[in-house]
Amino acid sequence: PEAITVSNLAKIIGVRLAPFERKLRSLGIEYTTHDHLLNSEEASLIAMEYDLNPIVDSIAAIDLFPKAIPKDMSIYPLRPPIVTIMGHVDHGKTTLLDALRKTSVAAGEVGGITQHIGAFSVSLPSQKTITFLDTPGHAAFSAMRARGAHVTDIVVLVVAADDGVMPQTLEAIKHAKDAGVPIIVAINKIDKHDANSRKVRDSLMRHGIELEEVGGDTQCVEISALTGKGLGELEEAIITLAELNDYRAEVDIEAEGVIIESQIEKGKGNVATVLVKRGTLKQGDIIVAGASWCKVRIMSDDKGQSLKQAPPGTPVKVVGWRETPNTGDEVLQATDEELAKTVVANRLRKIEREKQIKDLEIINEKRRQRK
Ligand code: GDP
Ligand code: MG
Repeated sequence: PEAITVSNLAKIIGVRLAPFERKLRSLGIEYTTHDHLLNSEEASLIAMEYDLNPIVDSIAAIDLFPKAIPKDMSIYPLRPPIVTIMGHVDHGKTTLLDALRKTSVAAGEVGGITQHIGAFSVSLPSQKTITFLDTPGHAAFSAMRARGAHVTDIVVLVVAADDGVMPQTLEAIKHAKDAGVPIIVAINKIDKHDANSRKVRDSLMRHGIELEEVGGDTQCVEISALTGKGLGELEEAIITLAELNDYRAEVDIEAEGVIIESQIEKGKGNVATVLVKRGTLKQGDIIVAGASWCKVRIMSDDKGQSLKQAPPGTPVKVVGWRETPNTGDEVLQATDEELAKTVVANRLRKIEREKQIKDLEIINEKRRQRK
């Protein structure tokens, strides 16, 4: 039904081939031989020319979309900033993430048992929370962006004080700038005898990073991920920037989020980490991501604690997916299972249709070349 030959369409419409071909040419359709395949858009355009009303497949239009962003966000509550750590290999990203995880007041309470879910939240003594993305490297950042997922609020750029600005440091700066995400510089490994943070600063400034010390906006903190020195200052810098940028989200609307990672787990089936961006995700909710849907059976946080509700800024591992969704997929809530199933079916059909149109173009191209 997605493609039809010229002669079949002529038959359906009830016109002879010769005038039909003339009509097609007048509509700007270049190839009009009887076996040429027309796609559904071309076919319905032609049908309308003959005063026919092509049946528009209205079911295919059913999908889920994010809510419009309110003009005035100031009336909504603050949400935790979402932070990604970037930097050159071996400059200390993993060590820093591990060290930050341990600074959480809550982690201490439950004995610091953490599970890897691709993101974690740090609760500070000041009651403030920071959410860190724990997905490996620059590729994940780009992949998320490519899918249109604007997840990160702040990039922490780790530069080792004994090694200085390196190719992946510059790549990280470019990624952050392209995405319009502000940077906080963390000069790491200052415990080392050959640390030279002055050199790092000068080098960063030469590469367009406007540090506060020269009147710019970019904060710079000296840390040692290994000894824990300066981690409090780094968290403070993040909170300062977050307050300046005033990140807020609606809490009482249907949940919207993004898939951070997914996998199949023994005994649990398809699981995926959802970072809630707006609204509150609740146990029992129906959500859709890409071509998968889920009735939220079990939700747990990065400390392995089960949750009934996840407000904005919370990363949660969700059990109950029909398929494993893809990293970067947008998560949207459906009112019921019927709607979720319809949306997924439509999305699959859309993917199939796009594939058919591509195949059709290839077939037509081959025919053209044969002539
Ligand atoms: P990544 O590739 O950026 O994730 O870097 P890693 O976190 O794996 O760190 C690379 C190496 O640097 C490891 O041997 C770490 O122990 C070491 N390292 C990380 N941070 C520090 C630091 O603050 N001081 C020192 N002396 N070594 C560090
Ligand atoms: Mg690493």
